[in-house]
Amino acid sequence: MDGPGEHGGTEVPADLVPERVALRFGARSLTYGQLAGAAGAVARRVGDAGRVAVWATPELETAVAVVGVLLAGRAAVPLNPKSGDRELAHILSDSTPSAVLAAPGAVLPAAVAALPRIDVDVRATGTVPEDRTAEDDPALVVYTSGTTGPPKGAVLPRRALATTLDALADAWRWTGDDVLVHGLPLFHVHGLVLGVLGPLRRGGSVRHLGRFDTDGVTRELTDGATMLFGVPTMYHRIAEALPADPALAKALGRARLLVSGSAALPVHDHERIAAATGRRVIERYGMTETLMNTSVRADGEARSGTVGVPLPGVELRLVEEDGTAIAGYDGETVGEIQVRGPNLFTEYLNRPDATAAAFTADGWFRTGDMAVREPDGYVRIVGRKATDLIKSGGYKIGAGEIENALLEHPGVREAAVTGEPDPDLGERIVAWIVPVDPQSPPGERELADHVAARLAPHKRPRTVRYLDALPRNDMGKIMKRALGV
Ligand code: ATP
Ligand code: MG
Repeated sequence: MDGPGEHGGTEVPADLVPERVALRFGARSLTYGQLAGAAGAVARRVGDAGRVAVWATPELETAVAVVGVLLAGRAAVPLNPKSGDRELAHILSDSTPSAVLAAPGAVLPAAVAALPRIDVDVRATGTVPEDRTAEDDPALVVYTSGTTGPPKGAVLPRRALATTLDALADAWRWTGDDVLVHGLPLFHVHGLVLGVLGPLRRGGSVRHLGRFDTDGVTRELTDGATMLFGVPTMYHRIAEALPADPALAKALGRARLLVSGSAALPVHDHERIAAATGRRVIERYGMTETLMNTSVRADGEARSGTVGVPLPGVELRLVEEDGTAIAGYDGETVGEIQVRGPNLFTEYLNRPDATAAAFTADGWFRTGDMAVREPDGYVRIVGRKATDLIKSGGYKIGAGEIENALLEHPGVREAAVTGEPDPDLGERIVAWIVPVDPQSPPGERELADHVAARLAPHKRPRTVRYLDALPRNDMGKIMKRALGV
């Protein structure tokens, strides 16, 4: 097998075990030998094109396309097939790809179809080109989720992929015997970098569900899958399904690792899953710009509401508003998470101002996420500086803990907490609730008392608003800007 860094973290160790299954999407699968052939053929077709777009449907072709672009030493730009025309037009004019790779049957919208198209043939048998890449070469341009503003194209060098995947493999004791199941989209780093390139890095295999559903999770974990990756909305569906689905509980109980990321996993869901399965979900914290920052280790203690400790190689500090780094871990002082290390992106494409603003003079990346550290170093994320920190009555209050408390109420299905201007308090805590039963939702007073019984009195919501659903993006993240923040 090639050494670490060869082909930028996307080794296709066909020479190691060519007959081992690398990828399985529904009924179609590829061994490592077949993947090398198909991705090698893509690499030959791509040639020395600059950036290459990938129409990232949840299919085998997407995985082959991305591995092929990386083998060619080029940068892949995954496109979200659910994006609207305006967003696609923005991403294409920003990233100027020379071609688009797509599954043969895929119907492309006009803006994408205007590019030269290369159909991916998963049965092709090309040879893998010689690796001429350098660590700094861009491997992926991934657009951020757009939770807080228009998506920005983060340029990820090969080094970032290789180091993040090795750090996670070490933290989770990932081996060639691991079989990962998930149904994550393939146009963000979670599903693509961790969910596809991750297992390939160590010679393991990926089973993609195409579309997430709990029956698929049961089936695959019963049939030999060892790890499950998901976003909190998926674990919420699992938590909801568990009481009536003993086969799901049994299957989850067999998994070596259950991992959640991309947003905070509500404590209520974490605890319900633990109670029903005897397994605790491990949380990890990362972002497009930094890949993975922290996680609970496979042999560490998974605690609800925490995202573990910095991964090997990642420097992490908490910084107060005046720029001082917080010394020691007291479990209380809130600061912005800043990170430094080989896992970082190099720049936002065509956004030198945004890139410059994102880094301190000494190279720390300002994540915009606020956290505290427990006395033993575990990171507890409080929320995003821009949308989750409420300044009310002289206190700085994290929306997340109030959301967690609200979700414990039996009449609450979903909850989001925001701050709104208030003449007396500075900001007033507002709870947005999706009730379990819209005919008889829990009242404002009842919810305020429910929160006050669990948290300090100043954390009680002053206003409750009822919705049919919370505004969420493709990753299931709550778009608080749509709630007026
Ligand atoms: P944009 O940057 O376009 O507004 P985004 O920040 O949602 O969108 P991503 O890079 O996909 O785009 O998401 C990274 C963010 O997701 C982190 O900065 C953090 O706020 C949140 N996040 C990721 N994992 C966790 C976690 N385990 N717990 C809490 N928040 C998390
Ligand atoms: Mg972001």
